[in-house]
Amino acid sequence: MSFSVSILATGSELLDGRVVDTNSNFVARELSELGLKLRRVLTVDDDMSELVGGLSRLSEVSSIIITSGGLGPTSDDLTRDAVASFAGVGLFECPVALKHVEEFFAKRGRALDETNRRQAVMPVGSRIITNERGSAPGFITQGENGAIVCSLSGVPREFQQMFRSSVLPLIKQQCGDVPLIHRATFKLLGVPESSLAKVIEALKLPEDVVVSYRAAFPEVHLVLKSARADLTEFVDQARTALGRGNTYTEDPEIPFVGALQSALELKQLTIATAESCTGGMAAELLTRTPGSSRIFRGSVVAYHNDVKEQQLGVLASTLAQHGAVSAETVREMAQGVRDLLKSDIGVAISGVAGPDGGSDAKPVGTFFVGVSSPHGSFEQRCLYSNERQNVRVYASYVALDLVRRHVLGLPLPAGYPIWLAA
Ligand code: ATP
Ligand code: MG
Repeated sequence: MSFSVSILATGSELLDGRVVDTNSNFVARELSELGLKLRRVLTVDDDMSELVGGLSRLSEVSSIIITSGGLGPTSDDLTRDAVASFAGVGLFECPVALKHVEEFFAKRGRALDETNRRQAVMPVGSRIITNERGSAPGFITQGENGAIVCSLSGVPREFQQMFRSSVLPLIKQQCGDVPLIHRATFKLLGVPESSLAKVIEALKLPEDVVVSYRAAFPEVHLVLKSARADLTEFVDQARTALGRGNTYTEDPEIPFVGALQSALELKQLTIATAESCTGGMAAELLTRTPGSSRIFRGSVVAYHNDVKEQQLGVLASTLAQHGAVSAETVREMAQGVRDLLKSDIGVAISGVAGPDGGSDAKPVGTFFVGVSSPHGSFEQRCLYSNERQNVRVYASYVALDLVRRHVLGLPLPAGYPIWLAA
C-alpha cells in the first residue's frame, strides 16, 4: 500500500447539517501543499460500533488516520475508547496529559472534577499530542495492522494547531518519496473565470504543469502546480498573459484588502469612502485587516439624496440633471468625502442594486465609482447584472480595486467585469 492519509470525522452535528466539516477541508489543503491528496474522508456518528468500524475500514487503505472530535469529557465523546478498541489495548491515565488538563483548569480558576479528568485518559502505548488552545490533549496510537491513528480535538482552532505541530511532521517523515510540488498563485479581481481560463489555455502549458482555478466571488485565483524544479518560464508567461495590474497579488496568503492596504501604506495615503448603494460595505472591507487605522479615515453612507447634498456637498442641480447614479454625482461625492473626512483619497459608489429602479439607460447592476485624489480624479461606469447583494459586493470591491490601481499607477481596465485579451 502506498502512503496515504484518511480522516475519520466524528459527531452527529456533522451528519445532521448543524456543522460543516471544515477540519477535513483544512487537512486536504495542508496536504495539497505537500503534493498529497487525502485518500478518504469518512464521517460517522458518535457511536462506538460506527467509530471502531470506521477505523477498521480506513486502516485497510491508509497509513495514517486522523480522527477529528470526540475527545471532550462528555458521554458522547467516545474517540479514546474507540481507538483503544481498534488498537486492541486498554486505557490509562497519562500523567503528562493530566498535568496539562490540571494546568488548563487552574489557569481559569476552575476546579478539576472527575468528568474533566477523563480528558487525560488515552489508549495504552499512545503518545500525547499537546493541545495549546484547549483542554483536551490528543494522542497518536499505533493500530494493530500498522495504521497510525492521530486523534485530535474537533474544535477547528485546536484541530489546526494540533495538526500542524504533531501530525504534519509525522506525515512529512513518513511520506518520503512523494515529489515536492512547486506552485505559483495569481489572485485577480473582477475577471470572469471563463476569461481567465481562455487566456491560460492559449498558453498551451506543458501537461505536467497543472492549472487550477478557484472562484471566490468577486475574485478568481489561478494556481499553477508542477513537480518541476523550476516553474519560472511558465510563471512569466502567465504573468504577461494576465496583463499588468490585473493580478493584485501572487502571494496566496494575502487577501485583496491586505494588498490594498499595503499599496496605500506604501504611498502614505489615507482613504475615505462615500457610499450609496453599498451602504458602507467598502468601509467594512477596509477595516477587515489589522492596522487599517493607518490608512482608513472613515465613511459617509450617503443613501438619501439629502445626505449626498448636505454632508457631501453634491449640488442639487447635479442630482436633478444627471441623477444620483451618474459620473457627475460620484465625482462630487468623492471630492466631498475627501474634504469632509480629510483623507488623501475619496472613493464614491452609487448604483442601481435592484431588483427595482432600473431603466433602459441605467439597468439594474449599473454603478458608478468616483475616485478623487491628489494625483487626479476619474469616474468609471460598470454594469454587473446580478442579484442585489452580489451587485453591492461587486461594486464595493471594484471601487477599491480602482483605488489600488490608481495609487500604484497601474492601468485602469476598460470596465468591469474585466475581459482579458486572449
Ligand atoms: P470538546 O472538548 O469541545 O468536546 P471534542 O474534541 O470532543 O471537543 P467535538 O465535541 O466533536 O470535539 O466538537 C467540538 C466542536 O468542534 C463543536 O462545536 C463541533 O461542532 C466542532 N467540530 C467538530 N468536528 C468538526 C469538524 N470536522 N469541522 C468543523 N467543526 C467541527
Ligand atoms: Mg465533545
